[in-house]
Amino acid sequence: MSINRQISSQLFETAKRYFPGGVNSPVRAFRSVEGTPLFIKKGNGSRIWDEDDNEFIDFCGSWGPLILGHANPEVIQAITETIQSGTSFGAPTRLENELASLIVDNHPVLEKIRFVSSGTEAVMSALRLARGATGRSKIIKFEGCYHGHVDSLLVKAGSGLVTFGISTSAGIPESFAAETIVLPLNEPFALEAVLHQYENEIAAIIIEPIPANNGLLVQNKSFLQYLRTKCDEYSCLLIFDEVISGFRAGFGGAAEKYEVRPDIITFGKIVGGGLPVGAYGGSAEIMSNISPDGPVYQAGTLSGNPVAMSAGIATLTQLLQPGFYEALEEKTIQFCSKISAHIQAKQYPAHLVQIDSIFWIAFSTDRIFQSEQIDPDSMKYFKQLHRYLLDNGVYFGPSGYEVGFVSAAHSTDDLQRAAQCICEGLDMIFNV
Ligand SMILES: *Cc1c(COP(=O)(O)O)cnc(C)c1O
Repeated sequence: MSINRQISSQLFETAKRYFPGGVNSPVRAFRSVEGTPLFIKKGNGSRIWDEDDNEFIDFCGSWGPLILGHANPEVIQAITETIQSGTSFGAPTRLENELASLIVDNHPVLEKIRFVSSGTEAVMSALRLARGATGRSKIIKFEGCYHGHVDSLLVKAGSGLVTFGISTSAGIPESFAAETIVLPLNEPFALEAVLHQYENEIAAIIIEPIPANNGLLVQNKSFLQYLRTKCDEYSCLLIFDEVISGFRAGFGGAAEKYEVRPDIITFGKIVGGGLPVGAYGGSAEIMSNISPDGPVYQAGTLSGNPVAMSAGIATLTQLLQPGFYEALEEKTIQFCSKISAHIQAKQYPAHLVQIDSIFWIAFSTDRIFQSEQIDPDSMKYFKQLHRYLLDNGVYFGPSGYEVGFVSAAHSTDDLQRAAQCICEGLDMIFNV
């Protein structure tokens, strides 16, 4: 059985006339699952519908922002009310203060923040801040962590354990990539060696504290705490890229969860409640380096956009309700344990990784800490699973390296149905 995707296919043909690959962000093109994208017409709660009127239980959630599900009534109401009074002024608004106070007053680390318009922009600005504040140039990043399409971070490790970045995209001068040192996750000795070798040159260590863009490579708390210790020892800054984990791994994100105080934190995704918002922040002292208080320039025509701010306020207000995260995590655990139990009973070569409301199906029996432990060949299983799920009303992001998100809008019934469907998909794959 295959779903009717006639209208989506026609729209994709049209889109290919206008956009490279027919899309405005590459993974949407469905190439890694060897399919063609579905064009989405609407969403409501846990569901989305494509242009051919196929209905799906959605676990992509716009890649993370939609922790309350699609078209959350309070978010829609806030946006609708705000927009009546105009869409942008390029001048301060009360709404920026409101969203900032929700964030800063409820976060263990932040004293000041700055709003931008995407996660990439937040990371780019955080790096500039770290360099400006320390007067140093080099950045350490970890293989398998994604930080948006910032030039100097679109790099991977070369050969050898400790290496300067090799650009993973055309258009990035070698000299930019050379400012980035790429290390494997979960290897304290490699980190120590680099810090020692480049003493006084490292501006910052940046990490996704819950790496969720290359599978779900949950790290040991001790490794994250080690980063803090080493940053203090070598006077470099620790940047937590919490674009996914911020307001997802609890309101205080990974910083609170792991009890680590990064110097700078970046946000995106959830903070804008489905509208384009990013943010970065830290102590008042470090943020005093930002223009107009300090010498590090950073600006934005649409930064702090009132419509986007109102979506963020309506979202974060709901996240602050007592018990919100506990309920969401509990649902996710139950969902994942149904699938895990099936995998174990059948002894399939797979396991579920779950943290808070994030999950990933790893097609391996071993726990995975590093991106190089992911077998590229295992992606063939995900491809089959993805196709099966689409045909049966469950929407996953179209890549086996991407995680799934459970939202507050997923009902027990949705999760029960989806878990059943995933188990059947696994049976289909492994019982051939
Ligand atoms: C999504 C993401 C980014 C980039 O955010 P955009 O809004 O897509 O620019 C950066 N870092 C992490 C950890 C992300 O998941």
